[in-house]
Amino acid sequence: MNKKIAVLPGDGIGPEVMEQAIQVLRCIEKKFNHQFEINFAHVGGAAYEKFGSHFPESTKFVCQKADAILFGSVGGPISESHLAKWKDCEKNSILSLRKEFQFSSNIRPAKVYPELKDICPLKDSIIKNGIDIVIVRELLGDVYFGEHRTFIENQLRKASDLCEYNEKQIETVAHQSFKIALGRNRKVTSVDKANVLDTSKLWREVVAEVGKQYPTVTLEHMLVDNCAMQFFINPSQFDVIVTTNLFGDILSDAAAAFPGSLGLMPSASFNENGFALYEPSGGSAPDIASKNIANPIAQIMSLAMLLRHSFELVEEAQCIENAIQKTLQAGYRTSDICIDKEKAVTTEQMTQQILYFM
Ligand code: ATP
Ligand code: MG
Repeated sequence: MNKKIAVLPGDGIGPEVMEQAIQVLRCIEKKFNHQFEINFAHVGGAAYEKFGSHFPESTKFVCQKADAILFGSVGGPISESHLAKWKDCEKNSILSLRKEFQFSSNIRPAKVYPELKDICPLKDSIIKNGIDIVIVRELLGDVYFGEHRTFIENQLRKASDLCEYNEKQIETVAHQSFKIALGRNRKVTSVDKANVLDTSKLWREVVAEVGKQYPTVTLEHMLVDNCAMQFFINPSQFDVIVTTNLFGDILSDAAAAFPGSLGLMPSASFNENGFALYEPSGGSAPDIASKNIANPIAQIMSLAMLLRHSFELVEEAQCIENAIQKTLQAGYRTSDICIDKEKAVTTEQMTQQILYFM
């Protein structure tokens, strides 16, 4: 397995948690006798300091040559002295990456680890059947890319945002969600607002057509308002949720609350060719950076997703996921997931335990 991974640690807790993920990757290499080519590159404020750009050509080149990208996080505290470094940092780096590689979908698992039920904001009676959802959000259509206008009409201020979808965009993301469901519990819930929006009617139609090609997967359609409510009354019913860009933005942030900390949540963005970028769902967390207290699990789980989805190394991914579960079972907690903060372990200690259980 001579695969190339572009590693972009970025800013804030990014470099700290990336260092942990790289240790886990080295352990996988040894245990399974693989050799990966790891190429580090700067992004975000870290790149701005060195190259005067948040997404320099040299970083783009490393990403273009790679088989997958492992990303940390970018951004930092905006203060007078560092205004240039941080201004538009996220926009210039993440959006440039999305544009460069045309990532068309974002995948976010939202899972409650049974060991961490006590930090899930929902009542025990509601999560008794567990929560293990994957949200697939379309990224290239919807109101984000239609024309935005603010104008005056009949002496009133007015604004409009054009919402557009074509069938190809819907097809791509639908196929992706059905494929993910095949490797899980074989249920897809497609979320839209088909009772009001024409884009949603088309969405529903195309997802249903694609669904016919996956006869072993159950497809269900749900209105977004109902879905939001179901999150609070019966979240166990969901396996894979596929939805539009705007609804996905909102629902995936809502689902991010289930596990109890952003420090647990990985994510992936795919383009039509299957090329992908993997990153924690949280950001650079400047409030806890450089303190050795960040939870490394989101970054390490992002690596596990990379191995599973980009390199089809299922056993290797499972090895990482099992080690994380055992670490949590053994009671190790970083402060974000620890009720008694006195007992929290450091970023490095958490990783050492995960390595121990691998
Ligand atoms: P950004 O602008 O980069 O998104 P932010 O200030 O919004 O930064 P986030 O990174 O989104 O911060 O994090 C939101 C909250 O979640 C913060 O309080 C942060 O400390 C916490 N958090 C995020 N990631 C982790 C992690 N890996 N471990 C522990 N806490 C985390
Ligand atoms: Mg944030």
